[in-house]
Amino acid sequence: MTEKKPLNLKNNANVEHHSATTSYTKPWRILVVDDDIDVHAVSRLILTKITFKYRPVELLSAYSATEARELLAREENIAVILLDVVMETEDAGLQLVKTIRNELNNHDVRIILRTGQPGQAPEERVIVDYDINDYKAKNELTSQKLFTSVIASLRAYETIMSLNKTRFGLERILHSSDSLFKIQSMHEFASGILTQLSLFLDCKPQGIICIEECTEVEHNITSSLPNNMKIIAATEEFECCLKCNLDETCGHKALSTLMQRALVERKNQFDNNYTAFYLDTSDNKAAVALVCSEESIDVNDRNLLEVFTSKISIALDNAIHYQKMISFEKAAVTDFLTGLNNRRQLLRLGIPMLALANRNNRLAVAMIDIDYFKRVNDNYGHDAGDIVLKQIGKMMDDRFRRSDVIARYGGEEFCILAPSLNIAQAFELFDNFRASVANCEIAISADVKISVTLSIGVTTDLCPNLDDMIAAADYLLYQAKHNGRNCVMVK
Ligand code: GH3
Ligand code: MG
Ligand code: MG
Repeated sequence: MTEKKPLNLKNNANVEHHSATTSYTKPWRILVVDDDIDVHAVSRLILTKITFKYRPVELLSAYSATEARELLAREENIAVILLDVVMETEDAGLQLVKTIRNELNNHDVRIILRTGQPGQAPEERVIVDYDINDYKAKNELTSQKLFTSVIASLRAYETIMSLNKTRFGLERILHSSDSLFKIQSMHEFASGILTQLSLFLDCKPQGIICIEECTEVEHNITSSLPNNMKIIAATEEFECCLKCNLDETCGHKALSTLMQRALVERKNQFDNNYTAFYLDTSDNKAAVALVCSEESIDVNDRNLLEVFTSKISIALDNAIHYQKMISFEKAAVTDFLTGLNNRRQLLRLGIPMLALANRNNRLAVAMIDIDYFKRVNDNYGHDAGDIVLKQIGKMMDDRFRRSDVIARYGGEEFCILAPSLNIAQAFELFDNFRASVANCEIAISADVKISVTLSIGVTTDLCPNLDDMIAAADYLLYQAKHNGRNCVMVK
């Protein structure tokens, strides 16, 4: 049972409101089930005076077991039922107890049985056979006794709800941290944390998460976060913080202060509008801030949050390590300047490609070299040369198919493996690419644009190993240079 669903009181004539009820203090809901109108009147006189733990009482009434059953199926958070035994049948109340416990599966509500004819339902038999919490003869229920019995029941109900909340909280922690373990991209993980924490706290998933940078970062004097902390995820309202990094001009100063405090004190922080969590992993630190007011988080929640955040920290650790592993692996196969495959990866990916080509007889291997590239460096500097290399790399990435392998072979030389092309198709493809590069202007600074040309050698003659095909393409490239550059030689 949750305590979250707002009540719809308008359509329910059976629900009475009492003056002490404010929108801030949730009333205790007590249901009186009796076919005697007078019993309702007397009960109301006594019960509506009750305030327990600063919460007033809200009275609900049902005049038969059938009516009570419908009401219980519809309404939530009823704490206590004062239940008559003899109503539409001799044992209507006792049957209702069974229905509540077994059919409606409500084991939380405290049931006080009240009978006018004790002989009809002997106390000893009833308290053993039926899951009720108290048994009273109606004549025994003076106002003092009723008051005592109801308070004791409310106290018991409160304990049950608190235990339930802890249990559900722990179940939710287990469930959500399991799902966090499955997430592998850092960005997804970050938004997963925001979602899970806000679900847990029943607040909107609004907030930001920052994490210690593993790599060197620029010194940022205006940021209010420690220098090595970087925001990795932010929801709608805080998206701007991804750029400003909570600097002096940031409108979310209160949030950054709380995050700072969480990082310095290494523990969760709560204030009127925000909650900041401290996540401690083996190598990194992280903080999460959420829009969630202090009021909505009770002691129970705080203790559970400690457990939850430590679980999240472990999952975060996992995600960070996974991310590192991925980036090491990627670095080993990628050319750092262009982001294309490096030579080692070209040879690795080329082996299965060539094996397949030996079956369908089609594979084009192209060696591409930038003409007079040394002059670019000499005339405009090495940085300009790098820009040109990157731009050519990007054009290759845009132009060639996903199934092609594009690599920077070394220096200003590239190699492309393009499966399923015959010699004519290969020539057309690479000559088109050559022309598009020759016609393109590359901006190497704000006001300088230059053009470069390519010489390309392409072979479609299959060899048993890739090195031989690359050597053949390289030889054709040499011929293209010899023929005046800016051309394609195929064989
Ligand atoms: P050719 O038309 O005969 O190929 O003439 P080229 O000038 O392109 O050939 P050369 O082999 O003489 O010069 C290649 C130049 O490429 C020399 C080297 O400094 C430059 N180069 C190699 N790698 C990089 C790099 O990563 N960045 C920059 N900017 N230049 C590089
Ligand atoms: Mg009766
Ligand atoms: Mg060259």
